[in-house]
Parts: sequence; C-alpha cells; structure tokens
Amino acid sequence: MADKKKKFYQLTLQERLQVLQDSGGLSKGETAAMSGAAGLTASQADHMIENAVGTFALPLGIAQHFLVNGKEILVPMAVEEPSVVAAASFMAKLVRAGGGFTASASAPEMIGQIQILDIDDINAAERRLEGATEELLALAAKADPLLVKLGGGPREITVRKIMESPIGPFLVLQLVMDVRDAMGANAINTALEQMTPAVERISGGRVLLRILSNLADRRLAKAACAIPVDALAFNDFSGADVRDRVIEAWAFAEADPYRAVTHNKGIMNGVDAVVIATGNDWRAVEAGAHAYAARSGRYTSLSRWSKGPKGELVGELEMPMAVGLVGGATKVHPSAAAAVKLMGVRTAAELAQVIVSVGLAQNLGALRALATEGIQRGHMALHARQVAIAAGAPEEWVAPIAEQLAQEKNIRVERALEILEEWRAR
Ligand code: NAD
Repeated sequence: MADKKKKFYQLTLQERLQVLQDSGGLSKGETAAMSGAAGLTASQADHMIENAVGTFALPLGIAQHFLVNGKEILVPMAVEEPSVVAAASFMAKLVRAGGGFTASASAPEMIGQIQILDIDDINAAERRLEGATEELLALAAKADPLLVKLGGGPREITVRKIMESPIGPFLVLQLVMDVRDAMGANAINTALEQMTPAVERISGGRVLLRILSNLADRRLAKAACAIPVDALAFNDFSGADVRDRVIEAWAFAEADPYRAVTHNKGIMNGVDAVVIATGNDWRAVEAGAHAYAARSGRYTSLSRWSKGPKGELVGELEMPMAVGLVGGATKVHPSAAAAVKLMGVRTAAELAQVIVSVGLAQNLGALRALATEGIQRGHMALHARQVAIAAGAPEEWVAPIAEQLAQEKNIRVERALEILEEWRAR
C-alpha cells in the first residue's frame, strides 16, 4: 500500500502505480501497460503502420485534483514537456475551490466532403442534389448499419458552391454524420464513397475527393470554471491582482494573433497530452482547434477569461473535439485502453469534456505564471533535470546536478558535463 500521508508526486514510481491499482481500479496488467513494463509491442506496431521497426515512448503522468461535472477524474497525460502535468494538477486544485469544471459536449457530429467537378450548369446541379438529399442520406446510412443501430448515422446534407478557385467553380456536397463514440474518419469516408455513384449521376459531374473535414465545428466541447478570488492569492499577489492580471494576459491573446497562437499552444499542451494518452488522433484535434480559432477570419484565443458577478475569475473554453473510444488506436494500444479505463469515461462525449477541462486548466496555469512571476522559475528546475540527463548523469546524480545547475543559474549541457567530470574525478 502506498503511504496515504504522502502526496501523489512524493511517491515513488512503484507506489504511484500501486495507487492506480488501489484507487484507480486498474489491474496489474493495466498498470504494467502504463508503466512501460508492458504496453504496445513491436509486433502490435507492425500491424498498425507500415515499415514498423518498433515503438516510441513518451513520459506518461497522471494529473490530480480534476473534478469534472462533479466527478473525480484521474487524468493520464502523455507529454515530454516539463511542468505540464504539475500545472494541470495545481490549476485543477484551484478550480476545485469553485466547485470544479462544468463541461458539456454537442452531439458527436462530423462533417465529410465530396468535391464535384466538370459540371455544365452549377446552379442546376446544386438544385438537383438538394432535391435528392433523402436518397443520398439513405445511401450513407447503408454504409454503417451498426452506427445507425447505436443511434448515430447520417443527419444532414448541404451543397456548397465554390465559385472562385484555381481551377474555376465547382460544387461541394457536405455530409453531417453522428459518429457516436468513434472519432469518425473511417465511418465518414466509407459513407462518402458509398454515395459517390449517385452523386455523379444526379449532379452530372465528376467526383474527385471524398474525405472527412477536420474542422469539426459541429462537434464542440465546452468547459467552464469560476474560481473564488481568495483562492487565487499567493506570495505577494492578492487574489484580485492575480485575477486581473490573468484577464489582461488573456486580452493580449484575444487581440493579437502572434500572442493567440502561443496562448492556444498552451491550451494544446493539456489537450494533446490526453488525446495522445488515450490513443486518439492529435493531428486531427490540432488542425480542428486552430481552424476554429480563426473562424471569424482573424486568428484569436480559444478561451475566454473574465470577472464574475462575485469578483471570481471565470474561464471558458470551447473547441472542436473529435476524439473516440472505439476505432483508431484507442482499443488496440494497451496503454491507451488502460488510460481510458482509469478516467472512467463511458462515451466519447465524456472524454471530450475531460479533455477540454484539462485544456482550460493548462491555459490558466500558463496565464497565471506568465502574468505573475514568469514561467522560467518553475520551468528551469525541471529543465535542469533534462539537461543533467542529456549530459549522461547516472540516475542518482540527476537531482543533485540539476540543483547545482539551477543554483548557478547556468542550465547548460556543457556545465552539466563539467560537473559530472568533477564529481567522477572525486
Ligand atoms: P473505425 O472505423 O475504426 O471505428 C468506427 C466504427 O466502429 C463505426 O463506423 C461503427 O461501425 C463501429 N462502432 C462500434 N461501436 C461503436 C460506437 N459505440 N460508436 C461509434 N461507432 C461504433 O474508426 P473511426 O473513428 O471511423 O476512424 C478513426 C481513424 O481514422 C483514426 O485512426 C484516424 O487517425 C483515421 N483517419 C483520420 C483522417 C483525418 O483526420 N482526416 C482521415 C482518415 C483516417
């Protein structure tokens, strides 16, 4: 049993895994998959991609203190950057002072596109396709009877005219499909292919691309939090000061794309780490996030921070969240399957709600640090450890060398090598 008096971060690796078994409900095999002792094998990888030679590991940490819609969640995060897991845990603790995160998700609707070229009369073809939406929806439904049985399936068809392009005008048919607990790319792409012969016949044109859109703006997840102002105070900063500084820092991102992209990158530090840990497609989520941030025509912040009626700090984050629990690597990858089990999420929508909450926590962590004492202080201690490891320090020397580097304010590999040489000589 792990020492109950110790905080999770004070435990040894082995003790933390024991906690995941004792209170996270994981089996020995599942914690082994998370620890790296077991997990994805080279032969499993060989079935997943081409020319496989092995697997590639990332650090996996568990963020603490997350309360999402009243439910305690242990959040697995796969990320190589120091401070991310600590910041998420710390901010989740602050948010807890205001009752935790309130999160919601829209229906899991994804969009697929069919590009139709070589049309004689674009307006007439558009009208014919619009008149045939029932027939086309029925064809799309046939592609995935299981999805329909589960309550998902095709929902809507729209036809868009692209009048100006390097190849002249063409039509785009867009299919909206509820993909339930899947990410949905394969489900959508199969449905689009099923519709193709009919789309060509009805439009009189030639179908070229049939592909999912990663601008998943019909599949949004939203998280909000309200932190009592007193909970924000630390060191010489009053709670009101911290709140106002966070809002001022957010306003910079709201107004300026150069700042907004870094602000959103901070959100993605949290989002991607959970997306990766659960075996989901992080390129899809990244692409969707940034396109959504630019939806007004000007790239801006994905989040919003303001002062609430009682002086509390109110945070909101809304973004597309195309993640699934079935399909992709989530079921195949043993560590991802264990991560999903640990979180206790039962639907893709619940997973999306947790991910967007982590994104909001990460955003607050960055804004709070940047707008008060700066991020380098906390960052450097962890960075120093990585530098010590890079210099080849043996495990028992990593912490003391990192400490010396930080004290000397000279966190460079060359200096770590010098220290190593001195210590070895002794
Ligand atoms: P999938 O096809 O493996 O699984 C989805 C299918 O599982 C559904 O079509 C359904 O038949 C079945 N299913 C069983 N139970 C279900 C449930 N509860 N909810 C929903 N479906 C259920 O996976 P997918 O999500 O369609 O595709 C995801 C993969 O596609 C990812 O690996 C992604 O990287 C890849 N991909 C992405 C893109 C892109 O992002 N542009 C393009 C192509 C492929």
